[in-house]
Amino acid sequence: MILFKTAADLGRHLVKLASGGGSIGFVPTMGALHQGHLSLVAASKKENAATVCSIFVNPTQFNDPKDFEKYPVTIEKDIELLEKAGVDMLFLPSIAEMYPQGTASLPVYPLGYLEAILEGKYRPGHFQGVCQVMDRLLTHVKADNLYMGQKDYQQCMVVRLLIGYRQYKTRFHACPTLRESDGLAMSSRNQRLNAAERQQAVAISRALSAIKSDIGPGSTQPLLTRAEEFLRNNGFKVDYVALCSAGSLQPVTSWNGQEPLVALAAAYLNEVRLIDNMLIP
Ligand code: AMP
Repeated sequence: MILFKTAADLGRHLVKLASGGGSIGFVPTMGALHQGHLSLVAASKKENAATVCSIFVNPTQFNDPKDFEKYPVTIEKDIELLEKAGVDMLFLPSIAEMYPQGTASLPVYPLGYLEAILEGKYRPGHFQGVCQVMDRLLTHVKADNLYMGQKDYQQCMVVRLLIGYRQYKTRFHACPTLRESDGLAMSSRNQRLNAAERQQAVAISRALSAIKSDIGPGSTQPLLTRAEEFLRNNGFKVDYVALCSAGSLQPVTSWNGQEPLVALAAAYLNEVRLIDNMLIP
């Protein structure tokens, strides 16, 4: 694995590779890697001649500065995991490399409805930050294929929108959520949970599984109310539990029994905010 700290060095290497004609797969991350990240690497390796991974904890997507400060950093272990997984290139830029003009006057992206709801509503500015960093990363990496996790369902929709808006040639692939054996979605933030919180955390996937198994045609509100209560009883402070159209993320208040849905939840266990979602059916 070759490690690049500057976009210029990475770019020169990618130009050399491009002359060989093979496709480039790209897996952007914020580090503190787990098997979920590595499943994206595996998907990329299967479908591309070379795989680029990036680790960059992007300050502009953290609406809460405390969350940014406490974001887990395990860079040495990450490098080891990526080498073992067979990643070809690791892009490890500094904040100054990514934002040479600073972060004060970055572009604003027309995300419309997508940034007014769910994560957009509860984390103001978050998806603008995601676009700011993804726009730069896609410019630097010029990937044929981009692999991101369905775990961040709304983020997948935002990045698809960005790719269209900026007319990148990159093809977007949403990969399934990897879970711990009890069902908890793998997440870098799980590292911040203490033992008791880790036990409670599984309630978030249980709440979504219950929605998925209990849903039938008709009003969705009773299911959402029950899920919120279940989370509160398990020590969570709930931002939202929602049932939305899987394609548009518009809320579905009454289900026709046919339309593909996604159940989404975001909630705090003390200081740690967890999100998860499940597709229905
Ligand atoms: P992050 O480092 O949290 O920014 O995540 C980097 C990428 O890994 C994003 O595309 C995430 O959606 C994806 N990801 C995070 N957790 C999981 C998981 N449990 N399963 C699959 N992909 C994941």
